[in-house]
Amino acid sequence: MTIRLAAPLQSDSVVDGFGVRTVIWTQGCSHNCPFCQNPQTHDFTGGAEFTVQEICEELKNLQNQDGITLSGGDPLYQIEPVLEIVKFAKSINLNVWCYTGFTYEQVLEMSKKNPLYREFLDYIDVLVDGLFINDLKDLNLLFRGSSNQRLIDVPKTLKENKIVLIPESDGIMETFKKKEKTYI
Ligand code: SF4
Repeated sequence: MTIRLAAPLQSDSVVDGFGVRTVIWTQGCSHNCPFCQNPQTHDFTGGAEFTVQEICEELKNLQNQDGITLSGGDPLYQIEPVLEIVKFAKSINLNVWCYTGFTYEQVLEMSKKNPLYREFLDYIDVLVDGLFINDLKDLNLLFRGSSNQRLIDVPKTLKENKIVLIPESDGIMETFKKKEKTYI
């Protein structure tokens, strides 16, 4: 199985979720958010293809990383290989964040036709969901670009069957607030 990526894995990021993380930049997105900062990741034939095995080997050899972050592009357009990668990441105790232009509710809807989307949620710690909306852009937001996007605590959301957000008042969150990042 292969996955199309926009760039090689990027280790040691501190702006794509809590802690020190390796970012997987997936290639391909058709959401077309105006003012998207990564338009080069939209073309579904762009980037380069890697085998899932290659990616998992790289993950296995990572040093001093707290987790992985799937970004893009939109990782959910490649759900089959993405699911294999997040399963492997969890099996070696990496926590998993995922950015997507789809909302959590849309992912649940998509899972009615393709159960892989629901299975995928079982391996996600935080889903940063929703389109980038330039009118709602706010540089003070934590780990996201516009205020419609949510930092969803997926395990708690699944358990409680209602959206549970990561609490932004936690002290640890404050330390990240001044850092800037390029959002999907
Ligand atoms: S902001 Fe994200 S979801 Fe929107 S077009 Fe760009 S890559 Fe796609």
